[in-house]
Amino acid sequence: MKPLIVKLGGSVITDKRRRFAVKRAVLRRLARELAAAKGPLVLVHGGGSFGHPMASEYKIAEGYKNQRQLMGFSLTHRAMEKLNTHIIDALQEVGVPAMAIPPSACVVVEGGRIKSMELTPVRKLLELGLVPVLYGDVVPDLSKGMSILSGDQLIAHLARELEVSRVILGVDVDGVYTADPKKNRGTKLMRRITLADKAKLVASLGAAGGRDVTGGMANKVRELLALAERGMEAEIVNATKPGTLRRAILGERGLGTRVVAR
Ligand code: ADP
Repeated sequence: MKPLIVKLGGSVITDKRRRFAVKRAVLRRLARELAAAKGPLVLVHGGGSFGHPMASEYKIAEGYKNQRQLMGFSLTHRAMEKLNTHIIDALQEVGVPAMAIPPSACVVVEGGRIKSMELTPVRKLLELGLVPVLYGDVVPDLSKGMSILSGDQLIAHLARELEVSRVILGVDVDGVYTADPKKNRGTKLMRRITLADKAKLVASLGAAGGRDVTGGMANKVRELLALAERGMEAEIVNATKPGTLRRAILGERGLGTRVVAR
């Protein structure tokens, strides 16, 4: 059975307005929804108010420029480990054998893009029936010294390498809109994004997003369209609405925005 990849956005599991604030009740509910998965599952989560403020304070995404950033690298990773611990705990409490896989220990990037990733442990854990949990992280960069690896780039890479059945992204809005629904009025939810929409869409979404260090919604769509090019299907759903993620995991389509080839 091919694995399913689910990403929990940082905006879903943390309160982005307060540093190091986990939405505990939401996380408990989402752990129960994830426990509904019938087959192999890989979970990825974002950084929210744990990773982003620290990464941006030390300008990690700009690459290595000064020694002060070394502590920033260390602190950002630690912050992500702390958030990850909450997620693993929540999953264990509902009987899901979750296992943290820190990307900084198995990924090397070049110019911010994944150059290599050691996936043997992930494959083996999946085979055994464990649920590997990865996250957006700071990583060594062959050209820039250091970079941020977004959870969104990670899911795209994992989806390609593990030949997953489907990718589900849980965010805090109903899907992809014509513009950021939190900043604009009269925006429309797009039910389906295909390769034919690529050029115009990435340009317009790019203009709307960009408030966090890894590029917001435009980046997600870009990564998912690259998967669609390989025939893989993905859907962006609202994980803040109780039951939606569970329904998507159980195979329902059309709950948010589908990103597909045609
Ligand atoms: P996460 O941290 O959950 O991965 P992000 O904060 O990076 O998510 O992206 C989700 C956010 O993107 C939404 O909360 C929304 O405010 C913003 N956004 C920007 N542009 C759009 C758009 N065109 N459609 C939907 N959301 C958008």
